[in-house]
Amino acid sequence: MTTATSILDAITVPVSEGRAIPDAATRETIGYAPIHTLADLESAVSAARAAQPAWDGLGHAERSRVLHAIADDIDAHAEELAVILSREQGKPLDGPNARFEVGACAVWTRSAADTVLEPEVVFEAGAARAEVHYGALGVVGAIGPWNWPMMISVWQIAPSLRMGNTVVVKPSGFTPLSVLALVEIFNRHLPAGVLTAVTGDREIGSTLAAHPGVDKIMFTGSTPTGRKIVEASAQNLARLTLELGGNDAGIVLPGTDVAAHAEDLFWGIFINTGQTCAALKRLYVHDSVYDETVEALAHLARTMPMGRGLDEGNVLGPLQNQNQFDIVQRLVEDARARGARIVAGGEPAADLGPLFFQPTVVADIADGAALVDEEQFGPAIPVIRYSDVDDAISRANAAEQGLGASVWSDDPEAALAVAQRLQAGTVWINQHGVLNPQVPFGGTKSSGYGQEFGVAGLKAVAAPKVISR
Ligand code: NAD
Repeated sequence: MTTATSILDAITVPVSEGRAIPDAATRETIGYAPIHTLADLESAVSAARAAQPAWDGLGHAERSRVLHAIADDIDAHAEELAVILSREQGKPLDGPNARFEVGACAVWTRSAADTVLEPEVVFEAGAARAEVHYGALGVVGAIGPWNWPMMISVWQIAPSLRMGNTVVVKPSGFTPLSVLALVEIFNRHLPAGVLTAVTGDREIGSTLAAHPGVDKIMFTGSTPTGRKIVEASAQNLARLTLELGGNDAGIVLPGTDVAAHAEDLFWGIFINTGQTCAALKRLYVHDSVYDETVEALAHLARTMPMGRGLDEGNVLGPLQNQNQFDIVQRLVEDARARGARIVAGGEPAADLGPLFFQPTVVADIADGAALVDEEQFGPAIPVIRYSDVDDAISRANAAEQGLGASVWSDDPEAALAVAQRLQAGTVWINQHGVLNPQVPFGGTKSSGYGQEFGVAGLKAVAAPKVISR
């Protein structure tokens, strides 16, 4: 049986050749990630191009079989993968965190294996007929963030492989080991060259994005980097799927049974300690249920166990890196300086480790405060009071981002009416950030374009070809 150490051993390199990767909670070194060069990137793209025709030639049934074998192997090594992820990313094993993320990797891989993209008949008149067929694009470059490193890599890799593409994946410099561990499992089942990880930062990413040997970039990360990817695509005309930053609003309508929804609201906000693209990041609450909502969230924030991820029972962890910790601290300090009321948390949780920040609920704050207007990507939620639903909708829609949004109400018609007016790629009702591998997911406005998952996700990594007669 393979142990956790053996996956780690397989992916780490000797001290002299690698970059030390810290445990996010304790700052101890977990292992050493290879430092890949531009020459390594060239080899990876060449290998991917060389391997692509044979991989494509295997056909859908065989590629689906391989993806199922990979999903089974992810399940078989789930705990080892979760430990690596928990240490490197910081998210606890328990709760909607590391074990949950590894489980989702298997679920999304199987979904990519089982989803079918049939040719579409788009015109028929007498003997005339036009069909759209979907084939492989070629080589996909997958560039990912550090918050859900394994799951987001699977979102990019599995549909690409299913459609007959080969993939070069570039993990975030903050979480290379998680992605290398995942790729190690994939590569126990894939022919050489079909999937290669190239670790490194900006230069590797920008060279991959502009590479003439790349046909498609699947990018998940911040909006500023997304804009650079768009510029790079002017060189190779790579197709793009851009999953960028969010500043999702939630609106709690009058008459809502807040106690019944409090835990779902809490996890919509604090999932992965707030480091989630489609987490609820600004909560607009009607005056009539405002105090009750603030108190319910504050109670949960004060009592949810936070700490080192490997300690069972913890469900909140540290910020993954110093930069993100500094952003959260700055936004909370700014809110405090403006006279907002810190109802729970508000300070670093230094007793737990250098990157822990207390789960924080901030009341009596308005649009214009940085904590409302900027993406915090951490455990601090501004709760904004409103008295007019139209006004709440227009404030929610005022953000430049449009990834997700949510409406909270026990009146289904009222909730639907508001949902139809919110500008976002997904609007949830009485939940936030809940994803399903069959349901398309993607952003609007500066949260990016393109959709992942299900049939839409397969189309995103396919070349459409019209056959007309
Ligand atoms: P980031 O943009 O800093 O980095 C993302 C990736 O891009 C990393 O692998 C990085 O090394 C690489 N990169 C950096 N510069 C590059 C360049 N010039 N060319 C090519 N690649 C480059 O983002 P991050 O800090 O890792 O992630 C956090 C952000 O990602 C947040 O804004 C979050 O909302 C967003 N995000 C969005 C989604 C979504 O599905 N929409 C999901 C997760 C995270």
